[in-house]
Amino acid sequence: MGAAIRRKATPTATAPADAPPFKKILIANRGEIALRVILACKEMGIQTVAVYSEADRNALHVRFADEEVCIGPPPSSKSYLNIPQVIAAAEVTGAEAIHPGYGFLSENAHFVEVCQACGITFIGPSGEIIRKMGNKAQAKATMLEAGVPLMPGSDGLVETVEEALVVAEQIGYPVIVKASAGGGGRGMRIVNNPEELPDLYNTARSEAKNAFGDDGVYMEKYLLEPRHIEVQIMGDLFGNVVHLGERECSIQRRHQKLIEESPSAVLDPALRQRICDTAVRAAKAVGYYNAGTIEFLLDKRGDFFFMEMNTRVQVEHPVTELVTGIDIVKEQIRIAAGQKLSFRQEDVVQKGHAIECRINAEDPFKFTPCPGRITALHFPGGPGIRVDTAMHQDAVIPPHYDSMVAKLIAFGANRTEAIARMRRALDTLVIEGIKTTAPLHRRIMDQPDFIAGTFSTKWLEGYLEELK
Ligand code: ADP
Repeated sequence: MGAAIRRKATPTATAPADAPPFKKILIANRGEIALRVILACKEMGIQTVAVYSEADRNALHVRFADEEVCIGPPPSSKSYLNIPQVIAAAEVTGAEAIHPGYGFLSENAHFVEVCQACGITFIGPSGEIIRKMGNKAQAKATMLEAGVPLMPGSDGLVETVEEALVVAEQIGYPVIVKASAGGGGRGMRIVNNPEELPDLYNTARSEAKNAFGDDGVYMEKYLLEPRHIEVQIMGDLFGNVVHLGERECSIQRRHQKLIEESPSAVLDPALRQRICDTAVRAAKAVGYYNAGTIEFLLDKRGDFFFMEMNTRVQVEHPVTELVTGIDIVKEQIRIAAGQKLSFRQEDVVQKGHAIECRINAEDPFKFTPCPGRITALHFPGGPGIRVDTAMHQDAVIPPHYDSMVAKLIAFGANRTEAIARMRRALDTLVIEGIKTTAPLHRRIMDQPDFIAGTFSTKWLEGYLEELK
């Protein structure tokens, strides 16, 4: 179907005194992140173009953009992942730049190159950098050269079961087989002994093939109770790279994050400095620019290992924004327009504490998806609460996309106040008509391990077992 544009009569926010870096940006995404980018553009006096699938006609990102273009039927493959339609929408509306958000086309090197060929600025790093870091086995090789500590594992891809057995013997069980093209916690298998290796190796490969169209897998030592610590990076086109501190993302289920916070409760200043400096060195080694995240696993001895780099804005970016006072999305836009980073490393200070709960449209304890219509809705407010969402009264949560419907973010002078505010926010959150994971988050906020900050990536699965 062709791109039908609709223009709104209502003008965007009045332009600020500084000339905006772009006149018009298209947001190639949906949901809360599309809205997040639109809000940044409004503050900067930039016109916005929303693209949407037929399932998202009444979505808030469509309502709040200056222009809107329908790009296809509900399945992502036919709409949000449809490169010709997205590019056509940018061309007919005269958008100068595309913000990809996260997911969908955000880490698609080919898309970046198509944008470039069409004279449209992609708000993110180059296709070359995305390709280099998107393949995890190759990214590890690049990081090895840069002197970044790596998780012990295979030297690149593991091509056969026989090779997998040899590598596992060398690194020692348990090991993890991971899809090189993987993401979203998929394409991973934990192997405890040689007997179970052949089957698990083969299922990891076929799952990777189905999910990512690439059956390349590599292997690593599997850490039993690590913490997931990641560092927010920003770089400009002039070679400046700074970090915005760390995020703690160890509250996970099936390798997917549920709760994130900044700062981490376990890093002392010296360790924080070492991790953040390492992340900057890693980003510089690939000539990184725009926003990115370097993910590490931290063991109990305080050793940390590079896991992967994400070359886009992350779901959990708000916790960093709240503790640093830096608007990551606005900075991404300025960088893409060729401006220098608006702050230096010494200007970045982590102040206070922020926690984010991802609210998914799922049964809170069984995690079955729960799309449907929102019949009643009230979002918490008050001191220190930020809600990033595209939900609204009578919204229909479509079954076609990611189940995350809101991010509840609490900020406090310290971790105790942030937790107290999160509890109060969860208690005054009303979402009726669908089930959400909010009740689980509310319970976690009362757990002694969570309060003490003594949890690893395994903690939540154990707690869920206790609840059964
Ligand atoms: P994805 O890109 O699919 O999110 P990651 O490589 O970021 O995959 O890993 C996701 C999660 O899986 C990590 O946060 C961690 O909990 C777990 N994980 C990955 N590699 C290892 C490992 N070597 N040891 C222990 N846990 C791991």
